[in-house]
Amino acid sequence: MESRIARAAARAQRNRSDIQLVAVTKKFPAAVIREAFELGLRDFGENYVQEFEEKHAELSDCIGARYHFIGHLQSNKAKKAAEIFDVIHTVDSAKLARRLNAELDAAAEPAGAHSSKDVLIEVKLSDEPAKAGAAPGDIAALVEAIRGCPHLRLLGLMTMPPWSDDAETSRPYFARLRELAAQNGLGQSSLSMGMSHDLEVAIEEGATIVRVGTALFGPRRKAA
Ligand SMILES: *Cc1c(COP(=O)(O)O)cnc(C)c1O
Repeated sequence: MESRIARAAARAQRNRSDIQLVAVTKKFPAAVIREAFELGLRDFGENYVQEFEEKHAELSDCIGARYHFIGHLQSNKAKKAAEIFDVIHTVDSAKLARRLNAELDAAAEPAGAHSSKDVLIEVKLSDEPAKAGAAPGDIAALVEAIRGCPHLRLLGLMTMPPWSDDAETSRPYFARLRELAAQNGLGQSSLSMGMSHDLEVAIEEGATIVRVGTALFGPRRKAA
């Protein structure tokens, strides 16, 4: 994995240090996260709040690990997600942003203390009905809403193109996310895009965070 990222960065004339690898561990047990942590990985991505809640309890000794929520976040899970994740990649409505902010405010000790959570806006660039994300035209308002939330710190944008075997199919989606970031005053911000099969293309198009599961850990078991 390291050599794939390094080669792609070199080809795109970018610094390897500007690209963060998030190891996606959904559907793998806590022991897999621990093993990866011991090998030096620090950033882990998970899709399900409840699944990770159980694993998180087993990982309290992995000091310095950072957990990224990359699944669809329902408002009623916002409180728990804010507790156990360090970065939330999938804020897609002002309502969810305000809910997260309110939960963080309620949890702040002493009351009103300033703690902030890193978030990204998930953008939906395809018309697949099953996919979540803010429409491109709603990004500006959502940026405003997040900036109005003192407990949220906006890192940038995230997207997930339609699945295809051919990584080149993802390129226009990645390029579009980069353009949308620039148009919304987020030109220097994070771009969370690229997975096992298309991370090279994502890096060529400016990804600063790649989210990689299968290429690190092998195929996931299908849900029972
Ligand atoms: C599962 C998942 C990934 C990782 O996908 P792989 O193809 O296994 O690398 C990345 N991002 C999101 C949002 C995911 O749900």
